[in-house]
Amino acid sequence: MRILVSACLMGLCTRYDGGHCENEELISLGTRHTLIPVCPEQLGGLPTPRVPCERVGDAILSKDGTDHTAAFERGAAEAFKLYKISGCAAAVLKARSPSCGKGPIYDGSFTGKLTDRAGVFAQKLLDAGIQVYDEGEISQIKY
Ligand code: SF4
Repeated sequence: MRILVSACLMGLCTRYDGGHCENEELISLGTRHTLIPVCPEQLGGLPTPRVPCERVGDAILSKDGTDHTAAFERGAAEAFKLYKISGCAAAVLKARSPSCGKGPIYDGSFTGKLTDRAGVFAQKLLDAGIQVYDEGEISQIKY
């Protein structure tokens, strides 16, 4: 089965700080399934590295106050297209990200506090009824 995954969890340096958060459990999942990496923020045209962003109401603001909502929405739409055209049946996404977090995510205060919402891309998948796991839930994937 094909599974869409956050690129940073595969070890690709797509994070805002230019790093990654490689997850061995996810990479092991690749022995049973075809994993398709995507970074919605890069697909939305944002640079790497970039100023960190958080969801503030319905907007996505960077720590310096710039509104990046349009780029996040564009990236979510493109990543959703990739999910569809590649024939994926589920997604494994990075937790707490303003794009990929299925919830909770950081609350917009840039203080590390969490709020029970989803990131822009994760919300798009959830709204479409797609099964979304975060990296703490990989062991739940039994197929
Ligand atoms: S947008 Fe998603 S894939 Fe890209 S760096 Fe953030 S968490 Fe990783």
